[in-house]
This record gives sequence, C-alpha cells and structure tokens, in this order.
Amino acid sequence: MIQLIKGFKDILPGEVEIWQQIEKITVSLLEDFGFKEIRIPIMEHTELFARSIGEDTDIVEKEMYTFRDRSGDLVTLRPEATASICRAYIQHKLFAKEPVQKLFTIGPMFRCEKPQKGRYRQFYQINAEIFGVASPLVDVELIVLLTTLFSRLSVSDIKAHINSLGCPECRPGFKAALTDFLASRTENLCSNCARRKDRNPLRVLDCKVPGCREEMAESPSLMDYLCPECLQDFESVKTNLEALNIPFVVDKRLVRGLDYYNRTTFEIQTGSLGAQNAVAGGGRYDGLVKELGGPDMPATGFAIGFDRLAEIVRLNIPEYVKTPDIFLAVLGKQNQSLVFEWKCALGIKGVKAEMDFSGRSLKSQMKRADKMKAKHVLIVGDNEIKEGSAILRNMVTKEQVSIPINGIVENVVAKL
Ligand SMILES: [Zn+2]
Ligand SMILES: [Zn+2]
Repeated sequence: MIQLIKGFKDILPGEVEIWQQIEKITVSLLEDFGFKEIRIPIMEHTELFARSIGEDTDIVEKEMYTFRDRSGDLVTLRPEATASICRAYIQHKLFAKEPVQKLFTIGPMFRCEKPQKGRYRQFYQINAEIFGVASPLVDVELIVLLTTLFSRLSVSDIKAHINSLGCPECRPGFKAALTDFLASRTENLCSNCARRKDRNPLRVLDCKVPGCREEMAESPSLMDYLCPECLQDFESVKTNLEALNIPFVVDKRLVRGLDYYNRTTFEIQTGSLGAQNAVAGGGRYDGLVKELGGPDMPATGFAIGFDRLAEIVRLNIPEYVKTPDIFLAVLGKQNQSLVFEWKCALGIKGVKAEMDFSGRSLKSQMKRADKMKAKHVLIVGDNEIKEGSAILRNMVTKEQVSIPINGIVENVVAKL
C-alpha cells in the first residue's frame, strides 16, 4: 500500500472542520481590519528565497525543497510567504495604484526539517502583510489583530513578546558587541553557530540548540544600542500596547532568523500546550521590497502557524462537526426515489439532510441516525404514504408529530 510522504499529513473530516472554522473567523477579522486576500503560487524561482531569506540561514542552506524543473530552471517550493507577496507587490506594481496595501494569504509552506511531533514538512500558515506604512502604530495594529483573533478562538494565556532589531544605523554597533561576546565562547556553540558567528552573529541569538541558548543568556541586548529614532519607535509600540491593555514582555532573544527584519519584531506565545509556545510571529522588514527590486517601501507583517493553532483550538472546542438537521428513514426500496427527491429539495433549501439507501430495518436506520447525531428523523414507509402523513421525531426530546406529505418539504422546514 502506498503511504503518504514522511513529514506530510492528511487533514481528515472531523479535523478539517476546525481548520474551516479558524479560517472563517480569521478571514472575517482580517477583512474588518482592512486586509484583502492575495493568492500566490506555491513555487517560485529559488533566487527569490535565497535573496530575501538570506543564504546562510537554516532554511536556505538545508530545508528548502529545491529542484530543477524540466526546463532546467532552479525552483523551490515556498518555505514562507512573505517573499512571494513582496514579489507580487513589486511585479504587479500594486504600489503605483495605492502605496498602502494590506494583504493576507492562507496556504501551505514546505520545509524539509527533521520530522518531529506536531511539525510537518508541508505546514500551513496564515500570513498578513502591510506595505507602505512606516509608523510603528501598524506594528501595534498587527499585534492587536493577533490577540483579538486568539481570544475569538478561545486560545488562552496569550502574551506578546516584543523586541526591536534596530536599523542599519544602529545594528552594526550591536553586532560588533555581540561578535566580541561570542569570540570567547566559540567552543560552547553548536557547529552552525560557530561557523556563522562572524558573518551573522544575530543568528546565534536565534539558535534553538539548548547549549547555545544557555550561552546567550548573558549576551548583550540590542536595546542598549538602539539609535534615538529606533528607541522612540519602540517606546511608541510599548505605550500603545499598554493603552490597549495588551499584555507583553520585552524579549531580547527575539531576533528573527531572516535577514530582512528591522525595528519591531514580535511573537505571540501561548501556554495552552503546556510549555510556552509561539503561535504567531512577525515584524517589520522595511528593506525587503527595495532589496527585491521594488521601490523603497516600508513593510511589516506576521505569520500564524496554522497546524499548531488547530491543535490548540481542538483542545478548547472539541465539537465543530456539523450534524444532520434531519435523517430520512425510508422503509421499502420502492419509496426511496420519492424520499430522495425530498432529501435533495431540503438540501437546496439549506437543510442538512441524510438518508439511508440500503433498505434496512427501521431499528437499524434509527441507530444510524443516532450515531450521526441527527437532530430529527422523518419516518416514511408504505403506511405513511397511504395515509398521506409521515412521522417526524425530535431526537432530543423524543417527541413525535405527524406531518402531511402534501407539501412535505415546506412542512418539515417549518418544524425544524
Ligand atoms: Zn536605529
Ligand atoms: Zn547554535
């Protein structure tokens, strides 16, 4: 038997309803905040990701699904969405029509990571990006949007972790201090960090290897190196979060592993899955649009890990499956087509109706209706048709009423 690829997964009925529910709530909230959907391809030229994410990142070095297509072009299954959205923003000159664009997309990403519980090689993200606004207020807006979303999804114990990554003016000073700090500690770092520490010392702060994390506890903080503009910008983020009663902590280790981030960076963490876990992350990436050949346009955005979010939401709200409004129990094969007509007519009227096509006994059909958690059962056999009225049973109250077969669809709808 052919099995699915390691690290990939099916989302089966029973679980998919949670995904649909999350999508519905998310899209409606994003639209209320002025975002429009954009749908981008899942495959791009490899160069797009190499340039935007950075050559010496784990993602580009060893996690991307990259291959030559039949014409020999080097292509990659997208490991994240921001680069593609930027590419589309530039390619279609969306900025020329209206520089401020608020865009979102929902879909699969691909990273060939070591498979582990709850981590997939095809994983899903909800991405939102705002182009054309330099004000830190829109960073706050993104955090408000995320905390609102999680509260609507009953995800509890939410906290925003924020940091500033500075700007090209002030980051070099911090990098130099960090490089000095790391120089004496090379032997305690993992091999990746030891290799990258001179070219890109910020990556060491981001490393998940426990030894590196321990080593970095005493590291210098970017906060102490921010230029006056970056500092003022970060103060504004904090003041506005406070004004909106959004709980947050300043987290100096929060440096995103991608080259193009600057100033405000954030993560939303929840204690829902036991240990503190990030369910969303994002921040400002003012340099990326220009880096990819577009105009000098500020930008900020976030990504939500859909798989993990679905896992948390499932724990909170286990019952998302829509059960049938009515089950049509039909006795005698000769009556099936008539009842089938009713079933179709009910479906067209927006009533979720199910029926049995096997001609089994009333008892076994009632059992099936019960298993499906149908709210009502309509019982129809030769006798009912002869007498011109069917029996409608409320499966919760067990009450039974007789309803005329003449105009039955309307009669049933009126009783539900
Ligand atoms: Zn600065
Ligand atoms: Zn490391």
